[in-house]
Amino acid sequence: MDADVVVIGLGSAGSMALWQLAKRGLDVVGVEQFGIGHARGSYAGDSRLFRSAVHEGPRYVPRLRRARELWLELERDSGRHLYDECGALQIGTAGTGGIAKSVASAQQFDLPHEVLDAWDLRARYPQHRVDDDTVAVLDHHAGSLYPEASVLAAVAAAEARGARVLTNAEVIDFDERGGRLEIVTPEVRVSCEKVVVATGSWTLRLRPDLKGFLQILPLSLTWFMPRHPELFTADRFPVFIRDEDGVHLYGTPSHDSYSVKVATEPLWPAIGSPDDVPAFSRADLRRITAWAAEFIPDLNPEPVRYSMHHDLFAPGDLPLVDLDEDTGMLLLTAFSGRGFKFAPVFGEIAADLITGVRNELWDSGFALSSHPR
Ligand SMILES: Cc1cc2nc3c(=O)[nH]c(=O)nc-3n(C[C@H](O)[C@H](O)[C@H](O)COP(=O)(O)OP(=O)(O)OC[C@H]3O[C@@H](n4cnc5c(N)ncnc54)[C@H](O)[C@@H]3O)c2cc1C
Repeated sequence: MDADVVVIGLGSAGSMALWQLAKRGLDVVGVEQFGIGHARGSYAGDSRLFRSAVHEGPRYVPRLRRARELWLELERDSGRHLYDECGALQIGTAGTGGIAKSVASAQQFDLPHEVLDAWDLRARYPQHRVDDDTVAVLDHHAGSLYPEASVLAAVAAAEARGARVLTNAEVIDFDERGGRLEIVTPEVRVSCEKVVVATGSWTLRLRPDLKGFLQILPLSLTWFMPRHPELFTADRFPVFIRDEDGVHLYGTPSHDSYSVKVATEPLWPAIGSPDDVPAFSRADLRRITAWAAEFIPDLNPEPVRYSMHHDLFAPGDLPLVDLDEDTGMLLLTAFSGRGFKFAPVFGEIAADLITGVRNELWDSGFALSSHPR
């Protein structure tokens, strides 16, 4: 089989790169080791937070602004509901850095937002327990994305523009033949000019040379049942992140009318492969439950559902988005626990790099040579 470009891995970033490459009229083939929208990708778990006014710093805002446009375009294009723009509350203690940075991002880029004190929060969002020195930024260009549906929608949008898709086809090797790259699966070989490696936590299998500085971290999700589910619908309960008393929590409104996702940051050490994600211990669950119930007292203090996932992390949490002109191989990976919201914009950046178009949203910090090794 021949193609201009092969995208290996049709998860969060790969599905979007396939869509963007197909939009540019390239002959593109996507290869996925499982089915489309499978349950083992870093995108799995019902919902992902989208935020525009981010505390990670203003350099991210233009990328998020473009990502939001692309999310809305994909929704229109696919006719599927992919995003609830219910807003995002970033909650913390007055005077702490994270809140100040988000407000600065919102002001610098004129993003619609409100700053709420403890009294505003108690009146508008009584679901959250707050102290008198608690404050929040309400980011209006923010909300909850539906990741599995988004991956499916992006792949379908690419196929509608002529992309070909191979599923249940694991790429096990690359070859060079006659000046072209050859992508090898147990059943098919695809010859192409360029390849996008969007293999997430599996990247180290194909590129063991990157093992020294990339690591796979387990990330957990937990869902709790509110006693009053009507308080947790998207029109009343924005997505949130909270950093207080040394605890980081984030969550989304109820998407199923009985449970609310409330989760925390990595608690587990790095693992060697996505197959090695640890099981929850009762102690882990009790710790997360205690935090959830402390900050959102309406939650029944027992997770109704929990699952363990993984993502590939790079030092400084900067992703690896880099085209090696000599080999024609573009790395599109290491989104470090925060990549889903950016997925369409990184798909667009990848398509521009492949076609030689300058994209100002690419950052030299994403280059392989910028990552400490
Ligand atoms: C629990 C959790 C919560 C998160 N919350 C948020 C959030 O709220 N907001 C946010 O923005 N981000 C969030 N993230 C981060 C975000 O989901 C990830 O950064 C993003 O999904 C990573 O995308 P990816 O394309 O690199 O990997 P994936 O989406 O996993 O895609 C990789 C794909 O490549 C395929 N593949 C791998 N190897 C091969 C091969 N050899 N041949 C063929 N196919 C292959 C895989 O099967 C997979 O489909 C969260 C992550 C986790 C785990």
